[in-house]
Amino acid sequence: MTRKIRKAAVIGSGIMGGGIAALLAGAGINVLLLDIVPFDLTDEEKSDPAARNRMVQNGLNATLASKPSLFMTKKDASLIEIGNLEDDFDKLADCDWICEVIVENLAIKQDLFKRIDGVRKADSIISSNTSGIPLAKMSEGLSDSFKKHFLGTHFFNPVRYMHLLELIPGAETKQEILDFIANFGEVNLGKGIVWAKDTPNFVGNRIGIQGMGFVMNAVVEDKMSLAEVDGIFGPLMGRPRTAVFGTSDLVGLDTMCHVADNTVELCPEDDMKDTMVVPAFVKQLVTDGKLGNKTKEGFYKKGFTPEGKYFKHQIDPQTGEYVEIVKPDFPCLAEAKKMESSADKLKAIVYGEDKGAKFAWKCVSNSLQYAAKRVPEISDTIVEIDNAMKWGYNYEMGPFETWDAIGVKESCAKMEAEGLEVPANVKAMLAAGKETFYKIENGKNCYYDFPSDSYKAIELSDSALSLEVCKADGGLVKTCASASLIDIGDNVYCLEFHTKMNALNEEIVNFMGEVYDFLDENAAGLVIGNQAGGMPGAFSAGADLSFVSKMAHAKEYDKMDAFLEKAQMGMLKMRYASFPVVAAPYGMTLGGGCEVCLAADKMVAHAELYMGLVEIGVGLLPAGGGCLNLWKNYIDALPAGTQKDTDLAKLFVPTFMKIGMAAVSMSAAGAVANGHLVPNRDRIIFNRDLQIGEAKKEVLRMVEDGYAPPRKTRVRVIGREGQGMINAEIFNMLQGGFLSEYDAELAKRIAFVISGGDVKKNTEVTEEAILKLEREAFVDFSKHEKTIARIDGMLKTGKPVRN
Ligand code: NAD
Repeated sequence: MTRKIRKAAVIGSGIMGGGIAALLAGAGINVLLLDIVPFDLTDEEKSDPAARNRMVQNGLNATLASKPSLFMTKKDASLIEIGNLEDDFDKLADCDWICEVIVENLAIKQDLFKRIDGVRKADSIISSNTSGIPLAKMSEGLSDSFKKHFLGTHFFNPVRYMHLLELIPGAETKQEILDFIANFGEVNLGKGIVWAKDTPNFVGNRIGIQGMGFVMNAVVEDKMSLAEVDGIFGPLMGRPRTAVFGTSDLVGLDTMCHVADNTVELCPEDDMKDTMVVPAFVKQLVTDGKLGNKTKEGFYKKGFTPEGKYFKHQIDPQTGEYVEIVKPDFPCLAEAKKMESSADKLKAIVYGEDKGAKFAWKCVSNSLQYAAKRVPEISDTIVEIDNAMKWGYNYEMGPFETWDAIGVKESCAKMEAEGLEVPANVKAMLAAGKETFYKIENGKNCYYDFPSDSYKAIELSDSALSLEVCKADGGLVKTCASASLIDIGDNVYCLEFHTKMNALNEEIVNFMGEVYDFLDENAAGLVIGNQAGGMPGAFSAGADLSFVSKMAHAKEYDKMDAFLEKAQMGMLKMRYASFPVVAAPYGMTLGGGCEVCLAADKMVAHAELYMGLVEIGVGLLPAGGGCLNLWKNYIDALPAGTQKDTDLAKLFVPTFMKIGMAAVSMSAAGAVANGHLVPNRDRIIFNRDLQIGEAKKEVLRMVEDGYAPPRKTRVRVIGREGQGMINAEIFNMLQGGFLSEYDAELAKRIAFVISGGDVKKNTEVTEEAILKLEREAFVDFSKHEKTIARIDGMLKTGKPVRN
């Protein structure tokens, strides 16, 4: 038997259930979404199916309305069938996976599982999304078959965006079920799997809430302000911008206190449980109903004064009153800002001398102690803890990676000097001469395993290829400040950009030219991609505008044209090279970044893809082949055999609109709808950790299938007829206020370029001819003061200027 999830049931359509249903539907799974029949139906409503489904309908509607969207595309909702737990319960017999996501209440969950045990088909998987109720208690008294197929699947909120999926095996769960769900979660749903034990709050929340609890107590002891603490524990320390108190406001103070209280109550053996006792000022906020963003006030209170002025105030932990925010001004933060690497930033903060630095050290050293003491209680390896914090809390580094970054030996010496406890397992590790938790050995990323006092390779699936590991293992073929060429095995190479936001610059264009001969000689194929941190991250946020700005100000138009031509020819060369080129876009893939992808043979795109040709926003147009290749994409997407007969008019307006309106997709599915991705040619994958490996596999498949470069043919264009067609569109957009007069002027010229210029409909022109039109328009646009104002405005504020 091959196990499959043909249909999944999600029971509970609240915040998490709705999110899980949307994720499953996005992955192409049919979903049965069930919820309770409302308690308060009138007699008349009791026989009305719509009224009986009101809970689940409202749940689905809320999921559809969520912002940011929990659905990859709203069309996915068509895969979700709704029902209620009375009339539709028997339908669970058809489901291969039944995922319980109802209220966190043991008795209610037990009752539901008893009913499920009575109807489920023998081999179906059942899981609970509980945040911390022991699995053993939930499955007490149920059939053996139930227990063998039952596990915890703990998703994080918001389900679509949080990478973490904690899997909790029950005492009797079959290994085959665990293996299957782990693979399904990783590959089909794109999640990062962390194996947790059946201990309270599992891994992420156990560690995360302890960290928050400690900070909340320390803020009172050390008379710090909330804004000071959040100023420290933000991006400079590799943590989310919302830091500690902003994150609590987001999660809800009630939820956070509930998890903390739970640990204190359920973990009597935890010698650091007191650090999680919620301090009085936080308890008071909960009692007062100041629960965070959902009640509009919590640790912070934001709003408008009667005079209409925006304000944001913070709670003073000493008085419990809201007070003005004074921005933190600790020297350690200024020092950290000067540092390049995340490790140096961290060191500048925790080893600083000022009040903020001392506070940071106090909290960080405590959280490192806590994490080390929880192995093997909550997980067998340090890797699970680090991954849980990166994927569930958006930390750049987990505790053990942080420890490596600040130096294990150095920090332990400091702890000892200050009378702080160094956990016994870490002490033993140092005594055995091991000074890091991680290291690369024999081309593998390895972690330190406490029980065996040895480094073990981190087990990863085949496709989890790490560029860092390849580089450290001697795979760096050529590099410069902005890009690298990396040997990723089997004669496949990866072209990696590593500028800020991976923006494209002159050095990258030159680098592509420089590595071409090497690739032609040696490469079976090329992947273009990178693995920059953060979610959703940026494959490439576009061209380096400061370079364009400089040339525009200096009126160096010949230089600009030459640069564009070099970039275009570089891309054409790759396109028609002797080897296949597969691009691996994810996250922000804008402007020039999008053009690089459009020029490849194929894309292996991540599901979270914000792709678009947005140049018009800065008064320009795609001139790295973007106009040409988007037009070709629309033609390529036509069913085979229909290309010659299709009226180009049908394709022209949508192509033009994508560039003229700077359309950006909100997911890879959206990029298909926008024509940037082509179905049957490009692939969408859900797991970014597997993206480069999957792109490499795609290259090898193309080689195995006997890759031959595409034949260079002429491109059929719409010519003058197209230019006329868009006038009406532009008029409407002007009337609707979607375009400024200058946008309209730019849009007309863009239409001229996409249409192939001043030619008759159905003329076949060379690619070079369209590329020349792109360049000419780009140079002309850059002569205009309004374009220069747009570019400079974007450089200054990061926001588009409308003029
Ligand atoms: P929620 O309150 O948004 O949704 C709860 C759902 O349970 C609703 O659909 C509700 O109609 C249903 N329900 C209520 N009473 C019921 C009953 N008697 N029988 C059956 N269903 C009933 O809650 P949520 O945040 O989606 O949490 C659901 C589960 O996921 C809980 O176990 C929670 O601990 C867990 N969880 C929550 C989060 C989070 O951040 N919200 C994260 C991870 C796990």
